[in-house]
Parts: sequence; C-alpha cells; structure tokens
Amino acid sequence: MKRKDTLSQKLFHRAEQVIPGGVNSPVRSGRSVGVSPFFVKNARGCRLEDEDGNIFIDYVGSWGPLIAGHAHPEVVEAVRQAATRGTSYGIPCRLEVDMAEKVVSMVPSVESVRMVNSGTEATMSAIRLARGYTGRPKLIKFDGCYHGHSDCLLVKSGSGLATLGIPGSPGVPEEIVAHTLSLPYNDLDAVEEAFRKMGDQIACVIVEPVAGNMGTVPPAPGFLEGLRRLCDAHGVVLIFDEVITGFRLAPGGAQERFGVLPDLTCLGKIIGGGLPVGAYGGRREIMDHIAPGGNVYQAGTLSGNPLAMAAGWTMLNILSRDGVYETLEDSAAYLEAGLRRAAADAGVPVTMNRVGSMGCAFFSPEPVRDFDSALKSNTEAYGIYFREMLARGVYLAPSQFECFFVGLAHDREALDQTIQAAREAFQAVQI
Ligand code: PLP
Repeated sequence: MKRKDTLSQKLFHRAEQVIPGGVNSPVRSGRSVGVSPFFVKNARGCRLEDEDGNIFIDYVGSWGPLIAGHAHPEVVEAVRQAATRGTSYGIPCRLEVDMAEKVVSMVPSVESVRMVNSGTEATMSAIRLARGYTGRPKLIKFDGCYHGHSDCLLVKSGSGLATLGIPGSPGVPEEIVAHTLSLPYNDLDAVEEAFRKMGDQIACVIVEPVAGNMGTVPPAPGFLEGLRRLCDAHGVVLIFDEVITGFRLAPGGAQERFGVLPDLTCLGKIIGGGLPVGAYGGRREIMDHIAPGGNVYQAGTLSGNPLAMAAGWTMLNILSRDGVYETLEDSAAYLEAGLRRAAADAGVPVTMNRVGSMGCAFFSPEPVRDFDSALKSNTEAYGIYFREMLARGVYLAPSQFECFFVGLAHDREALDQTIQAAREAFQAVQI
C-alpha cells in the first residue's frame, strides 16, 4: 500500500534547506519510524489532510492540545472575533481575568495563576519560583519525564531524546544540571533516600503525575501520595507538570483524578486551545513571591494575549460541559479494547497502558512502569506498526515513547476504522 507523497516530499526537501532537519521540533521528523513527515494542508475534527490529498485519522492532536478536535467551530469563532479587536496589547484585558478565574475554578490546587506561552516556560518558571521561595538550589525530577527543553530539566528527559538516542544535550553545562537529580519514576524509596541525604537543599520535586513522555506510564498506587508526604515532611515544593494531563484526565487534571494536590501546577497544551499557551499556578502564598508582588522575576511580551486567551477560555468551557469526560473515557476504552484484541489475534506481545484518553501500546511483553522498562520496547516493531497504520490512514505518534490521544472528535466510525487498520498492521509486525 503506497501513499502518494510527492508534494510532501518536495516540501520536505525545501524545508531541509532552510530549517534544521526540516522541522521546527525534532520528533516531527519521523526519523525513528523511518518516514519523512507529511505536510498538513487542512485539519478538521479528528482528521488531517496532507498536501497530497491523503486523509489521516489523527491520534497526536498537535501532541495533546486538540482534545476537542481540529478547527473546532467555537474555538475558531472565538479566535476570529478576538483577532478583529487586536492580537496583543501588552496591557491587561478582561479575557485574562476570565481565563484565570476559569483555571482556578477547575484545577483544585490552583488559587492564583500566571499565563506564559509554552509548557517549557511554565516548568522553567515554576522551578525558579520554587527555588526563590525555599531559598534552596536542588530539584528532583524523574527519568523519562520531559518538562520542556530548559537547561536544568534536560536530564534523562524522555521522548525526544530517547527517540533520537541522545542522552542529554550538548550546550547544557555540567554546572547547570549539577543541582538536578533524576530518579527512577515510581520509585519512592529512591526519593526517600535522596531526601534523607539532602532534604534541606531540595527546593522542589517536579513530576508528570501520569508520565506521557516515555509512552504512557501511570503512577504506581501510593507514589503521588508518597511524594506529597515526603515534600510536606521536608518543606519541599511539590510541582505537578500537568502540561499533558491538565484538563485531559479530568476537568481538574491528574490531581483531581488521583486526589493528590501539589503546591504548584504547570499547564500547557489544552489550556491554549491550539494556540501557544502555558501557565503555572498554585498556592497563593507561593505565587505571591512572583514579581511584581514578590521578587522572583518572570515576564512575557505576549503572555495572556487576547487571541490565546479567547481560544483557551473557549476550550475550557467546552470541556466543562456535562458528559465530556465520560465520552473521552468510553471512546478511549473502546479503542484500547480493540487494539488489545487486534494485537492478541496477530500474536504480537503488546503492553497497553492507558489512563483516561491518553495511552500507549508498548511493543514489549513486560509491564511498563518506568523509563527502564519502557526502553525495553521493540522500537523496530513500533516503526513497522507506525508505517502500516499510516499507510491505512491512521496517524500515530512517530515514536514509541509518546502517547496516543483520544479526543471528542473521534467518533465510532473513526475508532472502528483505526481498529481495523490495527488488525492488519499487527499482522505485518513480527517480534
Ligand atoms: N511538560 C510536559 C509534560 C510536556 O509533555 C511538554 C511538551 O511536550 C512540556 C512540558 C513542554 O511544553 P512545550 O512544548 O509547550 O514547551
């Protein structure tokens, strides 16, 4: 089955002349799954159309934000109307207040929230705040968790680096990461040990409450609760990076779903409705340390701009409607069951991890509970699966270490078409 890709190929050749690697973010390149990228011309609902006229059911959703589908009419209209009133003011506007009130009303631990322009900015700023607030230098993160590409967080940081086989990044001096300690995900003993040794130097623990950058890895029972307990005991700021899980796993994200409240929360992706937005928020007592009220500096020319606020606010209102999270759960469970059956019928050992509308099929017979077990997956097999699915009109993440995202626009027809494609694709995989 050969997909027509003449125009995408031509665009990629042009792109390679003027954009590093031909892409504006590395995992888009498709290198690890042996393809060059297709170029999107149009997107609507759960489907993408490329320059060559191929249609794909999309389970990437721009890497998470498009939970209500592409070009959602209400979001499009909100952006259109906002644009006619100006795209950025650099002066406060009403939409920023509406947006902050909405976030505070939805996310249980957030009393005060600052808008930024990406998830990377959110985590970078939250860590500066935690360090400024505690006066301590060190941070703990977990192997395989990605928190954006700021220097101090590029340590064993999951998908992008794992996909391309890059251990860390040149350009990050050792002194910058000297205060970063990366521990195995789901290993509370390791955290306890680190706290025993240097608890009074640790400013914060940052964690993806459900990891989404080594494939999908749920927290083991007690892991998040244990982090909360240890942080309380040692005066350490607990940061949940909910850039993926926020507004996806529940209206209030993973913290609502698992009933564990962090001190600070980082948000991104869905909060922007498809526009570039991030946010960090939490307990007012900590947030009050940010300038201008406090002395921890953080700023942004385009932060809280009306276009992004209009898109995000509309998206959050769509997600506040009755039945939304039940629909997401039903659709994702239906897909998971179909994929499991398809893999089993083809005799392909696959470990399926799923939490709500995010999930991952690891090409590994063993349970995946941390980065080491995720790395045991057969990435060659994933590459075959990816290409076979693409040939059948289904676009999955071009990396074993990413999630599939199910959204409100994935109707039964799309899910059935996906499961049928998977039945055929798994047959082509030999492990
Ligand atoms: N945190 C998590 C959990 C992410 O998955 C990502 C991006 O994928 C980020 C932070 C960084 O967000 P952005 O790409 O918007 O900078």
